[in-house]
Amino acid sequence: MTKLGSPELSIEFFPPRDEEGRDRLVENVAVKLAALGPEFFSVTYGAGGSTRDGTRQTVLALQSSGQEAVPHLSMGADDQTAVHSLLDDYRSNNIRRIVALRGDQPSGIGSYKFNNAQALIEVIRQHSGDYFDLIVAAYPEIHPDAKSASSDMDFFQAKVAAGASRAVTQYFYNVDAYEDFLNRCMQKGVSIPIVPGIMPITDFQSLTRFSDKAGAEIPRWLRHRLAELADDPEGTRALGVEFVTGLCERLLQLGVPGFHFYSLNRWGATTQICSALGFAARD
Ligand code: FAD
Repeated sequence: MTKLGSPELSIEFFPPRDEEGRDRLVENVAVKLAALGPEFFSVTYGAGGSTRDGTRQTVLALQSSGQEAVPHLSMGADDQTAVHSLLDDYRSNNIRRIVALRGDQPSGIGSYKFNNAQALIEVIRQHSGDYFDLIVAAYPEIHPDAKSASSDMDFFQAKVAAGASRAVTQYFYNVDAYEDFLNRCMQKGVSIPIVPGIMPITDFQSLTRFSDKAGAEIPRWLRHRLAELADDPEGTRALGVEFVTGLCERLLQLGVPGFHFYSLNRWGATTQICSALGFAARD
């Protein structure tokens, strides 16, 4: 199978709750998405280490099925020993990349051991040297906890300098924010690839709930159009696919290095959008 040209595609999953869900994800959803020729699938890490085993099992199951799988990792309420043993385990299983994050604040699971992703990167580099390729998160629309846009950029620059080779952004529906972020990175001498995170739109209510928390702005006109379609799943999906495909086309014109799709463990909308963009494996 060969991929059609660049940019590269990566696709994110969250770890299913049980073995049955994991089998369904690996044998059905991932197989369908693999037809798009992604570079890798990544698997999220629940707040406070709540999915430590589930993330690991999903990553290893994807890898056994022949896909490159990349675990997300955060310190959460874990201590360094737990992180070291997970790093050793991933290394012994030939996992080469990690998405390194501060992670979302766990509710009721104690407090953070480490307050930022940079500290985790330092732990990984101290323990595993340069073995892992590290991917970090970026926020073109500014991280919701940031004191200011400039401090957020300074901390991003420091996190990259600590040893990240690529960043994936929080999703956004505003190309200007991404372009501005790239310009500010350039001014700071941050030159790693900044891959836009893409969230397909399929469910307006959950999207607005999540976007408000994540600090992702949904343009007013789009909110209104989607609100009108609240009782029309097909209409929502059609508008979502059309809008997000257009967003990706504008990003392609900027020469993006790739796309990282937040699939929410579903294959339909991601496949429609990526196929329209020309991501299709072929013999
Ligand atoms: P950081 O880069 O540490 O930044 C967090 C905040 O702290 C920012 O406001 C920053 O300005 C500030 N900051 C950074 N460094 C310092 C410092 N030295 N001193 C003071 N302030 C500082 N969450 C999960 O729980 N599991 C996942 O698997 C997951 N995957 C994600 C994947 C992607 C691609 C993205 C974009 C997000 C993901 N998230 C995930 C969400 C992420 O964990 C949250 O957004 C979290 O709040 C921040 O994580 P970070 O690694 O970006 O943090």
